[in-house]
Amino acid sequence: MHELALVEALIEEVQTQLQKAGCQGRVVKLRVQIGRFSGVSVEAFRFAFEMSRPGTLVAEADLEILQPPAECLCQSCGYRSQVEELVLGCPHCGSLEIHLEGSQELVLESIELEEPTEPK
Ligand SMILES: [Zn+2]
Repeated sequence: MHELALVEALIEEVQTQLQKAGCQGRVVKLRVQIGRFSGVSVEAFRFAFEMSRPGTLVAEADLEILQPPAECLCQSCGYRSQVEELVLGCPHCGSLEIHLEGSQELVLESIELEEPTEPK
């Protein structure tokens, strides 16, 4: 399952980020973005997260998954529009020279930590 590999990468990234920032404390919330056109299933991702998290530093974290609207940017006429579905051409001029955003598989948006109640 592709989503399982993504979850593993996510947990690793959380670990790296926390180490870099020198943060301790429990992760209470994770917010990630999954691109609409990435082919990643949010349901499968959530399932993979549930499977992977025991024993990790996100064991008790809430997982919030965002799927922002995708954007289509036309290279020919500069028309920018929000698209719900995968489009092949510019809705304005019909040009095929378009750039579609929303194909990123996974973006870690934020990590929320619970402040340790007493310093160790
Ligand atoms: Zn156009």
